[in-house]
Amino acid sequence: MNIELIKLPYTTVDLSPVIGQQTVECHHGKHLQAYVNNLNNLIAGTKFEHLPLETIVKESTGAVFNNAGQVLNHDLYFTQFSPNGGGKPSGKLSLAIDASFGSFDEFRGTFESAGVALFGSGWVWLASDERGALSITREPNAGNPVTSGLKPLLGFDVWEHAYYLDYRNRRADHLKSLWQIVDWKAVEARY
Ligand code: MN
Repeated sequence: MNIELIKLPYTTVDLSPVIGQQTVECHHGKHLQAYVNNLNNLIAGTKFEHLPLETIVKESTGAVFNNAGQVLNHDLYFTQFSPNGGGKPSGKLSLAIDASFGSFDEFRGTFESAGVALFGSGWVWLASDERGALSITREPNAGNPVTSGLKPLLGFDVWEHAYYLDYRNRRADHLKSLWQIVDWKAVEARY
């Protein structure tokens, strides 16, 4: 089995009330587990079987891409939060955010708006190019900026399964509250 379910770097209650225990349990233990299982079944005996996850995402289409993309997306998602998160980025990422978006607060507002405006299911990402220039990308469904040659730094999941138990239809409220648990040290390490 090539692809494994990522271990959470916190317990399922730790992100509450921003993300409640039931949501973490279902999102990680059911949704992500299903993407992992589907992907392993789909790639068994194919050219993808022993490739790294990111390579599968870049080189696949259809069902393999959908499941590989969602595994990569959720691996990044679940490892960017901490019960001790929040605050602001520091160092070169902070400087790059100020240079690209004016200020951290302006970045945050633009990022939230991108997530709110995404129709249907998908992701909003902060991504960097190889020179370190930042951009906010909106990706439908299983999309990830790696398919555009960009490095994903921070991703908010706007599929309803990410917030419906805690926020019902209030996607904007969910996105606004997620900043409280962003582990900027983990995000900076990706930059
Ligand atoms: Mn999800």
